[in-house]
Amino acid sequence: MNRNFRDLAIILIVALIIWAGFTYFSTTTEQQDLVSLEQEAEIAEFFNRQIFREFDSVNVELTDSIMNVIFERLSSGMDTVSYEYDIYVLKSDQVNAFTAFNGQLFVFTGLIEQTETAEELAAVLAHELAHAENRHVIKNLVKEIGLNSLILIISGGDPVVMQEITKLVVSSGFSRRMEREADEYAIKYLREANINPNRLTQFFLKLKQKNKELPEGLEWISSHPALKERIQFVTENAGDSIKEVPIKLNWDEFKYSLK
Ligand SMILES: [Zn+2]
Repeated sequence: MNRNFRDLAIILIVALIIWAGFTYFSTTTEQQDLVSLEQEAEIAEFFNRQIFREFDSVNVELTDSIMNVIFERLSSGMDTVSYEYDIYVLKSDQVNAFTAFNGQLFVFTGLIEQTETAEELAAVLAHELAHAENRHVIKNLVKEIGLNSLILIISGGDPVVMQEITKLVVSSGFSRRMEREADEYAIKYLREANINPNRLTQFFLKLKQKNKELPEGLEWISSHPALKERIQFVTENAGDSIKEVPIKLNWDEFKYSLK
């Protein structure tokens, strides 16, 4: 088939699916609950394939063991753990971390580079885990493209469409309400796991400072707007100071090994 025609056909099919999605699901009931965990696992499979096509992962054995230590600590502070989480480290200068589907979290070496301690990364991951536990990615996608479209597109697994979805998940932000919710949960997870919730504000402030020198590439900040408001919220809600139990990792050595 002629390539242009094929592209046009794809666009038309997607448009039709989106229209159908809106027509059948114009109510705002808890639609994300209509995407089962099994379906989400299927989406994750496509999504991960796409991600690993675009980015290299680094020293998987080492990063796995480090991320496990951090996750173990954080999960000790979570009252529910809905997924079997995987935290992947991807090679990229982007200062970014994001939650995808089915408990798959991704963090770029560029963001790890900006952390000074394991507790700082734990704070970022607590925020991402909170997005996952609250199914924010599915909620967002359902809102953007409709539930029907999502399911149909996923089951078709068209690489062009999946690439668009990947872009949407990696770069598009959540609503302010979702960000607030993720920060609220992150504070709770961190406190319960004996990590000072202000580690999150510390990291925000540092990025804010750096932002002046490095306007490009701070994706985690640009996808998380209203930074000032969030710093204030976390500071006000961090609660009484807690005695932090350090995460036993040699952070500088780990960072060095990523180079
Ligand atoms: Zn967020």
